[in-house]
Amino acid sequence: MKQYDVIIIGGGPAGSMAGITLQKKGYKTCIIDKSAFPREKLCGGLLTLKTMELLRRECPAIDADHFIVKKTNLVHFYLESEQVATFQLKESCYLTERTLFDHTLIGEYRRNGGEVIENRRVKPADIHFTSQTLQTGTEIMGYRYLVGADGCNSVLLKRSGTNNHNYYCIEGTVPHDPERGDEMKIFFGVTGHGYGWQFPKEGYDCLGVGGANSDKSILEQAGSFFSQLGVEPDNRKGAPIPSGRHPDLSHLPGNTLLVGDAGGYTDPITGEGIYLALLTGLLAGEAIDVAIRKGSKSAAFHYAERVRPLQKNIAAALRLHKILYRPFILRWFMQHLRNRPSFGLFYLEKVIATNEYDYRNFIRAYFLKHRKVKAG
Ligand SMILES: Cc1cc2nc3c(=O)[nH]c(=O)nc-3n(C[C@H](O)[C@H](O)[C@H](O)COP(=O)(O)OP(=O)(O)OC[C@H]3O[C@@H](n4cnc5c(N)ncnc54)[C@H](O)[C@@H]3O)c2cc1C
Repeated sequence: MKQYDVIIIGGGPAGSMAGITLQKKGYKTCIIDKSAFPREKLCGGLLTLKTMELLRRECPAIDADHFIVKKTNLVHFYLESEQVATFQLKESCYLTERTLFDHTLIGEYRRNGGEVIENRRVKPADIHFTSQTLQTGTEIMGYRYLVGADGCNSVLLKRSGTNNHNYYCIEGTVPHDPERGDEMKIFFGVTGHGYGWQFPKEGYDCLGVGGANSDKSILEQAGSFFSQLGVEPDNRKGAPIPSGRHPDLSHLPGNTLLVGDAGGYTDPITGEGIYLALLTGLLAGEAIDVAIRKGSKSAAFHYAERVRPLQKNIAAALRLHKILYRPFILRWFMQHLRNRPSFGLFYLEKVIATNEYDYRNFIRAYFLKHRKVKAG
């Protein structure tokens, strides 16, 4: 039986970052993925500045030119089809192809000596918590710690009998209109508890809708959104995305950690998940390292300590999300944004692009700053 310090299920951004962190600390790890890399992953591919900074800090050997396909700092907000505000950001947003991005990251994990088993789908019955083994096919692998990085429909969530609270996205592509600039468009009011997007990529635009399956199914909402824009996207596909509600993981053993989408880590307002996938992967790696050094079997306590601020921020975003996405409040807010775009710019630059403020303090910070500017 092959023995590992850590087995990681899933080699997306969360799994790769957990693996890179652990490999750099000298542990023996293995990533098991149901696909072979490079593989496709449905995603808008928007990388915020804080994501790029995290990558530069943790993986300085990675060359961003390998996966960045566009940069832009112009964002338009729409309410249905009506343009309400335009934001010129000081710093660029980055757009990637997930095929390239995830391949680069898992390549960095391999470069650090990590093992990868591809084309191997882990099933709930393959995991044996008591003997700390994982059986895939005829192979039995032993682990001290197990990391679930296998996305929204994680086998570990299934094993723990937890309901994962997901929203859904539909995405497709249209050829990029050369007359149009490289701006990003966000469309509010086109779906329940979410939004539509149009992001420029290399030679085409990625269009999508994400939100709750409310009174209308997300498929119908996507259909109405695409016809409102007068487009028929190719390769239309759907995928779940965490709603931000934290799954109950109390039934999982203390040496089992969930990172990224598997742990429900996305920003409930924007749906941004890549940053939190990388960050929770990193934090899980650090938590396991501390547990091993302290001789503790459980890493869950150390991980919980580290992710608590993220969970509090997500909980604050969820509260805001419930208020903001009520149709009459959304309309009022968009009207307000038209008259006061500085609020939107503050949010985009200080909360989304960077971590200068979070959902718990940015509204107060904005009004304090604004009052000072007026008084000055
Ligand atoms: C349509 C759409 C658009 C999005 N746009 C953005 C965006 O623009 N910016 C942003 O930041 N976020 C975006 N997100 C969210 C983002 O894609 C996720 O939050 C991010 O991919 C989470 O990374 P992860 O590593 O946790 O999971 P994933 O990227 O889902 O990786 C999970 C890995 O686990 C593997 N796996 C799954 N099940 C098994 C199994 N049973 N056995 C073995 N392997 C398994 C998969 O093959 C995959 O490689 C979007 C999501 C969707 C659906």
